[in-house]
Amino acid sequence: MRHQPTTHLNPRSPLVLDTRDLPRRPGAMRVVTRSIPAPESLGLELIWVPEGATLDLDLRMESVSEGVLVSGTVTGPVEGECGRCLRLIGDTVAVPIQELYAYEHSTTDETTDDDEVGRVHGDLIDLEPALRDAVVLALPVNPLCRDDCPGLCPDCGRPRDELAADHTHDRADPRWAALSNLSTQRTKE
Ligand SMILES: [Zn+2]
Ligand SMILES: [Zn+2]
Repeated sequence: MRHQPTTHLNPRSPLVLDTRDLPRRPGAMRVVTRSIPAPESLGLELIWVPEGATLDLDLRMESVSEGVLVSGTVTGPVEGECGRCLRLIGDTVAVPIQELYAYEHSTTDETTDDDEVGRVHGDLIDLEPALRDAVVLALPVNPLCRDDCPGLCPDCGRPRDELAADHTHDRADPRWAALSNLSTQRTKE
């Protein structure tokens, strides 16, 4: 979901791009590299970019006939929880980003809604909605600590990869049940 377009952008905001130095001539290009603090609530329920963590923007702003095409990569750390074993996950992601921002009064501006195509407001571009979309799209809905994470034993709740290969809870045999109770208690201590 995109934010409402803001018409009063702050040119000093880290997620606002200033196109003043970019000639409005198709083919003109400017490189934007900056490190910015991650905005709040960037990500999904189980995996996210910690607020304030450093995001590296490595972008190109290109003049096209109807506006400015912003493309490049956003790199930053992510934190989350494995959907199978609940271990904490730490990783770095590099997310591709590509978004067209139409000039005011261009044909694109007149013929599209601003939730379909972004807008250049004066000389300024609000990168935040596109950044949020790109990051959310790149993150897994079910993050895993590794692809073949075996998850938790459904009986004792311990990570399977810390248990013996023949680990079972065979309640038919009282000797095994007693052993299993012992080991469960040991983990609780
Ligand atoms: Zn896992
Ligand atoms: Zn078990």
